[in-house]
Amino acid sequence: MSLADLKNRLNNRKAEQAAKKAQYIKPVRFQAGKNRIRVLPGWKEPDVFYHDFGMHYVKDKESKLAAVYVCTDKTYGKECPVCSAIYEGIKVAKDTGNLGMEKLLGQAKASGRVLVNALMRDSAEPNKPVVVELPAGVFDSMVDQMMVYLDEGEEITNPASGYDFIVTKTGSGIDTEYSVAVSPEIYGCRIR
Ligand SMILES: [Zn+2]
Repeated sequence: MSLADLKNRLNNRKAEQAAKKAQYIKPVRFQAGKNRIRVLPGWKEPDVFYHDFGMHYVKDKESKLAAVYVCTDKTYGKECPVCSAIYEGIKVAKDTGNLGMEKLLGQAKASGRVLVNALMRDSAEPNKPVVVELPAGVFDSMVDQMMVYLDEGEEITNPASGYDFIVTKTGSGIDTEYSVAVSPEIYGCRIR
């Protein structure tokens, strides 16, 4: 299967619409080093402050980005035509021994991400809410720490009495690592 074939398969209304929507999502990502972030609470009841999200980054043979699609499975929990096409394509590539294509398609699988509304406290606009894209592992650590604080009656996402997270990003590519810590109040990170 060629990239053109894959594109043709994806050429249905559902995938197109999802891709159109994705153009408006321009989430902020973490910079290398320390990132101070205040995760904001949700606006609606029940208080859902995060959104699962997945994107397919389809690359061509020169490893250049050829197409970007929202993964409707990871994002909306609905069957994803891109996932199906990739799954089928990998099967064909395996059967025909096309290692290059198998690798390319493997890289196009969606990785789980989580979107939250947050303040990026070291940015040029530290008080402007932005949509931030968190790797699933980073979000899981944040949730763990939120639970610890909740047990003590404290809400990390509370705008008045909550805390910032410090996310430290090291390495790059597949060796990227993140560490997540709750910023101590002593540094004056509370929003008053
Ligand atoms: Zn998908």
